[in-house]
Amino acid sequence: MSLTPGSTIGIIGGGQLGRMLAMAAARLGYRIVVLEPQPDCPAAQVANRQIVAAYDDPAALAELAGTSAVVTYEFENVPVAAAETLAATVPVYPPARALEIAQDRVTEKNFLNGIGIPTAEFCPVDNDDQLTEALKTFNGSGVLKTRRMGYDGKGQRVLRDMQTAGFAGTCEAMGNVPLILESLVAFEREISVIAARGLDGSIAVFDPAENIHREGILRSSTLPAVIRPETAAAAKDAASKILSALGCVGVIGVEFFVLADGALLANELAPRVHNSGHWTEAACVVSQFEQHIRAVAGLPLGSPARHFDCVMENLIGDDMLKVPALLAEPDLMLHLYGKAESRPGRKMGHFIRLVRPR
Ligand code: AMP
Repeated sequence: MSLTPGSTIGIIGGGQLGRMLAMAAARLGYRIVVLEPQPDCPAAQVANRQIVAAYDDPAALAELAGTSAVVTYEFENVPVAAAETLAATVPVYPPARALEIAQDRVTEKNFLNGIGIPTAEFCPVDNDDQLTEALKTFNGSGVLKTRRMGYDGKGQRVLRDMQTAGFAGTCEAMGNVPLILESLVAFEREISVIAARGLDGSIAVFDPAENIHREGILRSSTLPAVIRPETAAAAKDAASKILSALGCVGVIGVEFFVLADGALLANELAPRVHNSGHWTEAACVVSQFEQHIRAVAGLPLGSPARHFDCVMENLIGDDMLKVPALLAEPDLMLHLYGKAESRPGRKMGHFIRLVRPR
């Protein structure tokens, strides 16, 4: 059954993704309540109401469940227990299981491999001895990451062509938390696919974007990605398979490494709207944000057809100085997140430059 206009959708997390979800929901006639401890957060600035509390605050969760017809979230580190508590009284999409899988890089890779989607080779690592052993199997190179809570390149370290001895203190320097060593993938390019599954099980997949990261942070997404048609089709198939295997309702983002022969390795799975899908705002009739709201509200999904070639670039820290010049460009959509303070590495907004009609 679909939500009638005027119904309230709850969003856990108050960042820019929540803001853009709230804006899309408003266009479809829905009201939004945001649960976020930070007052006056980007999402709350455009929502009907904010519950200012921790994501796992029992009273706040009860209030969110009591006021929302459905609850969703804008980041994958929502406590699983909070999603499960909510799910006892209100539908929560995507399901808590999607959070559980995406929150731990080892669980995530086991899930992906289990449904036939290859990833980089990996080894769970809990101490320096295990790290040394794991490095031996990857010829002395690898990417060491925290299993949980890493984002935007935080919590990871590239270990390149190093001797396998001499890692004393590495695990401590990473915070003494469970780690994963991944083989260092010599990828040719990075792509991502944004895909949605509706309440009725229908699936819509957007075109793959080609992504450039610097210091672990997404800088730009370009459409179309320069990949073979078979690679694009395989990436879209993999995203559909993940949605079905998770029984997911809503949007997911899947990042892939593309190897020289066109083969794909899945890197990361986010059960939420994704930075590399912002281009859909300007190049598609229905954006990833509207698609997600449609899915969780039980509405039919929109067409994922792309009507323009385009480039999306993030505005990070001082990039905000470019805004006046960007505004002077024709065929450019600017989106700022309402963050009062700009800091190095902080995503302040993005723009989408349309290149030409398809
Ligand atoms: P992640 O946090 O896993 O999305 O990693 C951030 C970025 O680091 C990726 O987009 C890649 O550019 C790079 N990276 C991550 N894992 C690997 C890997 N196993 N091999 C090579 N590069 C990687």
